[in-house]
Amino acid sequence: MDHFIADFEAKVKKTIRQHHFIHPGDRIGVAMSGGKDSSAILAFLHRTFGERPDLSLIALTVDEGIGPGRNVPQIAQIAAEFGVSHAFTSFRAEFGFTLDQVVARKGEERSCTWCGILRRRALNRLALANGVTRLAMGFNLDDEAQSVLLNVLRGDAARLMRSGRPVEQLVPRIKPFRTVPEREVALYAQVFVPSYDRTGCPYAHNALRGEVRGLLNSYERQHPGTKYALVNLGEKIARQGTIEEKEVSLCPDCGEPCAGACRACEILRDMRESGGDGDGTSDT
Ligand code: SF4
Repeated sequence: MDHFIADFEAKVKKTIRQHHFIHPGDRIGVAMSGGKDSSAILAFLHRTFGERPDLSLIALTVDEGIGPGRNVPQIAQIAAEFGVSHAFTSFRAEFGFTLDQVVARKGEERSCTWCGILRRRALNRLALANGVTRLAMGFNLDDEAQSVLLNVLRGDAARLMRSGRPVEQLVPRIKPFRTVPEREVALYAQVFVPSYDRTGCPYAHNALRGEVRGLLNSYERQHPGTKYALVNLGEKIARQGTIEEKEVSLCPDCGEPCAGACRACEILRDMRESGGDGDGTSDT
């Protein structure tokens, strides 16, 4: 096990160095759902940088409002065990409705799209409010390879060519686990945070990503190295140019960064027009 941990951490440190993910003075926010990826990244960052006086860590949770919601006390407990402070918000607090209500209004089919747009917005606000300078996301090699393939299948050149250049009011995101296979992240989480949340999302079956995951896993079994190849391809394409990248500006309505029409505001308008109580519940 010692060998696995040393190898795992060496790999992640190399990725951080290569991509200049962390700089002296950074306050690193860990996007913390409490699942294996985010728990593992909190453990890794604490073990690696916890003693650095010039860096600080904070765990950030967004409760989307799916079923009974995130187990926030449990997530806060994981953060406390590492001596890391924790801040959280929810779709209800940020937007006035839960993801369940969005789904009731707009249908299940694109639940992950609505969820992604709103979570990104809520997380960025939470990060800005807590002085975060880098937002660490738990995406692993499998997630990254799936994203590249998804963008290819959708013909989404703009996303493939997104350069990651700094955007006003958008906390830069870092993905230290982007070259680590999912099964290794799960093992690392099991070692350092055995109490991580294993609850699945009831909407996960709607994600096109699920189909791509199955396809990619079966292809990887026949052709080992495919996931690395896809991630490398994605990086090369992003480096090649940004001619198709949409200009990012601040939304005149909400003041948040957006490329083209502000999709979060579109959802907010739609929910307001419907009364925002798609599942008939009230917060009072
Ligand atoms: Fe949101 Fe989809 Fe993830 Fe569920 S599976 S938390 S709906 S992105």
